[in-house]
Amino acid sequence: MMDHYQIVIPEVLINTVLKVVHDSPPGGHCGIYNTLDRAKEHFFFPRMGKIIPVYVQSCHLCLIRKVSNKKTKQEIVSFPKPAEPFQVWQMDLCGPYPVSANGNIYVFTAVDLFTKLLFAYPLRNKDAITVCEAIYRMFTTYGVCQTLTSDRGSEFTNKGTAEFCKLLEVTQEFTPAFAHHCLGACERQHQTLAECLTTHFLIGKVWVYELHSVTFSMNSSVNNGIDFSPFEIRIFQRHTCRYAKVFSGTHL
Ligand SMILES: [Zn+2]
Repeated sequence: MMDHYQIVIPEVLINTVLKVVHDSPPGGHCGIYNTLDRAKEHFFFPRMGKIIPVYVQSCHLCLIRKVSNKKTKQEIVSFPKPAEPFQVWQMDLCGPYPVSANGNIYVFTAVDLFTKLLFAYPLRNKDAITVCEAIYRMFTTYGVCQTLTSDRGSEFTNKGTAEFCKLLEVTQEFTPAFAHHCLGACERQHQTLAECLTTHFLIGKVWVYELHSVTFSMNSSVNNGIDFSPFEIRIFQRHTCRYAKVFSGTHL
């Protein structure tokens, strides 16, 4: 049951709404499920459950950028399961992209395994120090985690990153060689991020400027596996902790 009001859209404005919920930077050219979900949050028009899928499936930019994810034959390897947000992150690098005005070419990406929240940070190169800076920025935003997982790329296996993690008492875990698919959660977010950024290249936008709105769009989109967006889970978690403390009296 809907617990909020929706604006009823007259037929002449349906296309405008579709552009807002799908084509705009916060819309992020998401898939059918997320576009429909976002539209239903604010709007109503007859047959929206049929019109939106048709609109998304026929979006030209979506059609030319989507990467097929049908090759899923590799075995699944399990990693430490987190019990709360920001305990285990999977990190990776995206790019190279066209050099931005301030010299950025790669994107450091990390996905929190609990909330599936994406952290993205532009990088000038993939040196150990630059990568550590990105990890540092992530820790100063979300707190220091317990475990960082990544592939065995030299940007993560180097001495500098190892020392940095040791200093902060963070365990580094690596996927087996040639098994990049083990980074499941991150790879999927990666692919979505790359697809979204590609859409912005295609319409001539500067990707660094779009990175934050694309990340925001992905973090506020419902995750198909969980039914909540990373932002919602984070808020629930915070409330649950607060209520738990209130009921057990520990906040007094
Ligand atoms: Zn699209």
